[in-house]
Amino acid sequence: MAAIHTLGELRQARLHSRPVKQEIRDNLVRKLKAGEPLFPGIIGYDETVVPQLINAILSKHNFILLGLRGQAKSRILRGLVDLLDEQTPVVPGCEIHDDPLAPLCSACRARVAREGDDMPIAWMPRQSRYVEKLATPDVTIADMLGDIDPIKAAQAGLNLSDELTMHYGLLPRANRGIFAINELPDLAGKIQVGLFNILQEGDVQIKGYPIRLKLDEQHVELQANPEDYTARGKIITPLKDRIGSEIRTHYPVTRQNALAITKQEAWTDRTTAGGLKIEIPEFVREVVEEVAFQARADRKIDKRSGVSQRLPITTLELVVSNAERRALSNNESIVVPRVTDVYAALPSITGKFELEYEGELKGAEQVARDLIRSSVGNVFTGIFEGQDSRTVVEWFDLGGSLPLSDTTSAADVVTQATGVQGLRELANHVGLKSNSAAPVVASAVDFVLEGLYAQKKIGRSDERGYSAAEASPRRAPRREEPMIDESFQIPGSKKKYYN
Ligand SMILES: [Zn+2]
Repeated sequence: MAAIHTLGELRQARLHSRPVKQEIRDNLVRKLKAGEPLFPGIIGYDETVVPQLINAILSKHNFILLGLRGQAKSRILRGLVDLLDEQTPVVPGCEIHDDPLAPLCSACRARVAREGDDMPIAWMPRQSRYVEKLATPDVTIADMLGDIDPIKAAQAGLNLSDELTMHYGLLPRANRGIFAINELPDLAGKIQVGLFNILQEGDVQIKGYPIRLKLDEQHVELQANPEDYTARGKIITPLKDRIGSEIRTHYPVTRQNALAITKQEAWTDRTTAGGLKIEIPEFVREVVEEVAFQARADRKIDKRSGVSQRLPITTLELVVSNAERRALSNNESIVVPRVTDVYAALPSITGKFELEYEGELKGAEQVARDLIRSSVGNVFTGIFEGQDSRTVVEWFDLGGSLPLSDTTSAADVVTQATGVQGLRELANHVGLKSNSAAPVVASAVDFVLEGLYAQKKIGRSDERGYSAAEASPRRAPRREEPMIDESFQIPGSKKKYYN
């Protein structure tokens, strides 16, 4: 292909371009035969979305991806672009990327007639053959299809209906490529009709002038509000009728898949950006993921707008940043995020969901804090099932407290933890080794404390850090028992005892 520079050479090579849908289909068939991976980086859709996509492409359908925010719809589209030929011959400078062997626009047809076999051709990479548009109510016919320029026409002495006078919109510019439109129901009915006409009949009226354009495109719609799409009257019926397949996307079904997606998407390897080595404990990853799962199930959060997978992705990034900040200011050699760092990631959580009325009463921040706490509780219970935490809880019940915060250095956390009987032993349960670095141990200790706090076995406040739980019916009377006399020693060193 690199050797072909002119129309004559192209003709000789008999490189006839296929219609886009045929081209995508051919490349898919080839990949399927060769057992090559399809849609790389798309996790958890192997048995649901991907087979439906393959069928739609094999059928040469236009299709719609129907699903909530953050369900990899854009990534699927990028995967579709990978199914185009790497390079495609075009008439250089043509706004609608005409095929040199079969140009649509009159300018290119004139050029081919004038220059013949000597006409130079250009090669367009597949990444340039993809146009995406977010439909909004203010999108006009001119934006989508194009406009005619009467002045240009008058100057050139041309007829207004000649395409030479046309300023092309997005749809013609996607000719010979993939055109994706987001939120089609938001387009005015008039534009939808225009869209339908050009797709179906190959002509459209602009300012009353008929324009003929037989475009060749693969159409994909993306729809984040499934209810809008299915609502009667939102999309004109003939346009909806042109969609061959309706494919529903979904959030990760298993925590395993969700973890894998976040691991792939979140920016956490920062050594190349001058950062320290980062070690993210698995339980921190799980807590972050659990926040998204809990949010999706929470009735205080609006289900129709969903909770994007970008929530755990950006949350993990902030969690790592908070840990990075701590490590840098305490001069530590590795960055190990803690569960408490998830609270520092509130700015990436509160903006990622819409609240129902009940949630609004509580406020986004409180809703998010509650989500984090119950997520920690869930993950902690799963990992520490059957572990005895009574010694640790008793230490606090007897009046002990640990004034820790997310800025406390790892060394300080470890020292303070040593003063609490049973705490280090309990923390070992997450797989600590005798030579684990202080930041790793500190993170495990933090997890235990946050876990016990989530289970309401101990309390936590900004002023005192971790301390005994608010008087519970079971423990309250015990506190008043006179057996805790002056001579009773709080286990561990006395200077950690702040009450
Ligand atoms: Zn052209």
